[in-house]
Parts: sequence; structure tokens; C-alpha cells
Amino acid sequence: MPLQLANPLLLILIPVLLGYPTAAGKAAEADEEHLSSFWMRQAQDQLCERLARTKDFIGDSRRAKNVVMFLGDGLSVTTLTAARILKGQRRGGSGEEAQLAVERFPFAGLSKTYCVDEQTPDSACTATAYLGGVKTRSGTVGQSASGERVESVLQWAQRAGKATGVVTTTRLTDASPAGAYAHVRRRGEELEIARQLVEEEPGRKLHVILGGGLGKFADERRDGKDLLSQWREDHPGGCYARTLKELRNCTADTETNGSLLGIFSDSHMSYHLAASKEQPRLCEMAAAAIERLEQRSQEDGGSGYFAFIEGGRIDHGHHETRVGYALDEMLEFDAAVETVLGMTDPRETLLVVTADHSHTLSMAGYARRGTPILGMDIQQRDLDGVPYSTLNYAIGKWQSLDKEGRRESPGKTLSPTSYTPSYIHGRKGVHSGEDVAVFAMGPQSHLFGGVMEQNLLPHLMGYAACLGSGVTVCSQDKDQNRDTDADPDSSDSDSS
Ligand SMILES: [Zn+2]
Repeated sequence: MPLQLANPLLLILIPVLLGYPTAAGKAAEADEEHLSSFWMRQAQDQLCERLARTKDFIGDSRRAKNVVMFLGDGLSVTTLTAARILKGQRRGGSGEEAQLAVERFPFAGLSKTYCVDEQTPDSACTATAYLGGVKTRSGTVGQSASGERVESVLQWAQRAGKATGVVTTTRLTDASPAGAYAHVRRRGEELEIARQLVEEEPGRKLHVILGGGLGKFADERRDGKDLLSQWREDHPGGCYARTLKELRNCTADTETNGSLLGIFSDSHMSYHLAASKEQPRLCEMAAAAIERLEQRSQEDGGSGYFAFIEGGRIDHGHHETRVGYALDEMLEFDAAVETVLGMTDPRETLLVVTADHSHTLSMAGYARRGTPILGMDIQQRDLDGVPYSTLNYAIGKWQSLDKEGRRESPGKTLSPTSYTPSYIHGRKGVHSGEDVAVFAMGPQSHLFGGVMEQNLLPHLMGYAACLGSGVTVCSQDKDQNRDTDADPDSSDSDSS
């Protein structure tokens, strides 16, 4: 309507009403978000608010001796649902009624994954959030957006005398595991990330390091360093494994509880569906890690441990838009959670399971109960009468079009390892920006509910296990004791 558009006030208001950012609003937001202190303060405020909100009905002051954080890379809620159905169907059931290990966790919430400069984030800025407590720029690991060093919760744990370990199915120098120990502006600096893992803290003090990416430690280096020999020199009682058999030999030797390094491939470890028997499964690596960290903790007088365990290739299956690989990797992750559930005591170990970001997988239509989740539902048809699959990506490599560019049924080519149809043709599958799930069990797990900023997670783990410089259950206990000591009336009334 030209008359209304001519009104100068409306011209100013329309972008605001439509939600377009104004230049001033954007600048004000960005400046403070570039500093660690902004995110640390924001998370501590949220933690205190949570404590205040729950203290009247949950008086649990139990401290977590151990923490195990599981990270499913790209593990969207749709991936959880589809993997659950696949799990049930592999066992011969209808599928929908099956249960994932996380379904036994009593508390769940949602995590907001945006980063300082991205609505939909990558795995580097999210790792800095869920391990370091600070949101940063896309591609940055262990640094704030202004370049300050951000310590990870594993470093907090080492400072508190706990044993620590990192397990992944990707290269050990990939963004998610790097968030545990590295500090680089760009995630692609993997040769530098490998150097930091072996030479600097907290990397060189990790008791367990299991994953892939041998090339970054040896062959691909141009600086003449042999980081593997260096690690062995620095850890005289340590054990180094290249295969599942060698990993078993390392863990069979219970006499020496030295550090454990396992690197099982030159780059990412193979997808479980394509792996040789030489390659350990994620659940086998997780079991070896927890066993070694538990031994180490006992040797140190029961100091406890912190383990970070990543199912890193769920994300890769989604990027390839081959949902069969993504779901199988998710079920490998599920098996690892199940394994650790069976090895730990919920009275002393906090388990947290979450994702860094989502993916565009959708589960569309009204498929009947028991429809094969990786196949077609021929009852579903588009306006041209062409059937479509239940699982699709918004953006991906393959659209299932005929020579004239019309959509044709993908049924002929769909298999558990084939490409999955997408609506928009792109180079590869892409991340998506909606919230991801967080599941928790063990001491203080009730705090992991509702909607959380992703960078709150390490603060909550730190609170539960008395790590880091923020508020913890230990500092709260001290405050309460001090209050009681200072108030003679309250102790009188207690004894009367
Ligand atoms: Zn990704």
C-alpha cells in the first residue's frame, strides 16, 4: 500500500516489526558477547537462578565424584527418534516402542546452540560453549570471540585432582574433542591442535586419549616433530594402542595404571558399518576409558574422574545425507551410554548426554506403525501421486529427480547405506539451528532441566562436582555451615 509506505514512521517501524536487526542493536549485542566474562557471568546468574528455583523442593546436596559427558555430534531429536525405531526394528519389533539408554535418565532439557556470530553453529564454537562455558565465533576452539584463552571443564577437573580422559570416533584433533584441551582461532589448525594435546596442559595430563587421526601426530607434520615418540617419553608407564587387540592388551595389564593412548586410524575412524574387526567400537573404547580412569582415581585416594566421550560420526552420516550411517553411529553411541551406565554408580557419578547442534533430518507424513524407518512408506504420496520416504533432509546431495527434473519415487535405490532424498539440492547436508536435547542422571542432575544456554552445561557440571571457580555444591555447603555457625539461635532450636 503506497500511501502507508510513504509514511516515514512506518518506514522506520516496518523492519523492526518484521524482526530485521537494526545496525545499533547488532553492534551492542556483539561487543559484550566477545568477552568470556559476559558468558561466564551470564551462566553463573542462570545457575544461581536455577538453585533458587529448585531449593524449596529439592534439597539434594550430594556431590558428584565423577562426571561422564557424552556428546553426540549432530544428534538432533529426530535422529534420536529414528534411531530408536531402527533399534527396535533390528530386534524384530515394530520399532517405535524400543528404548534408548537415555530414556532411563530421569532429567532432560533443551540446549540453545547459537554462537556469537551464527544462528546455526558449527562444532567448534559449540565445543567451546559446552566444555568451556563461553560462546564464541564459529570455527574457534577454546578462545572467546576476542581471543581470550578459555579453559575447559577438563582443566578445571585436573586442577581439582581428578583423572581425565577424552574418547572420540573422529580425529582426536577434530573440533569437538579439541574443545577439551586446545586453544586455536581456527579449527583447521589441526597440526597445532595435535601439538597442544601432547605438549601443553591439559592435553599432556590426560590419562586416557582414544580416537583417530594418527596423521596429525606424525606423517602430515612439517615441523619434524614425532609427537607419538614424545608422548611415550613423557608417559613412561603409559600404553599405546593401534588396534582393538592392542587396546585389550593395554587394559589387561592392571599392574601399571599409566596413561592410555589409542589412535586407531590415520584420519577419522571408519563408520561402524564399514569398519574392520581391528577397530574398536565406541562402547569398547568407553569401557576401557572408564576402567582406566576408575583405577587411576582409586590410586589417587578416590579423587574421581571426568570423561568426555564423543560419538562424532553421527554428524558425518548426516553431512553425507546417508541416514543409515548416521542412525547406525547413533546406535553405537547408545551402546556406549549403556555400557557406561552399567559400569558407574548413579549415587556418585553424574552422566550428561547431549549434542552440539542439530541436523535437517525430518520424519514426514503419517507412516503406519512398524514402517521400515530406512525405507519407503508407499501409502504416502505427493500431489503427482509419487510416493516418498519417511526420512528426508531439507538440504542434501540427492533429490531423486528424473531426467526432466520431476521428482520420482526414491524406492528403487533406497537401502540402509544409500543416499536419503532431500528437498533442496546442495553440496552436502547442513547443520540446523533448533535446540538439542540434554539428558542427565546422578548427583545434581535435576539442574539439567528446562531450557538452557549451551554454555551453562560446564557450569552445572562444575557445580555438581566442585570444579572451576564458580558456585559449586561444596562452596554452597560451606556457606550454609557458616550461616548455621554464626546463628546461635538456630543451633539452639535444632537441639531442643
Ligand atoms: Zn557437522
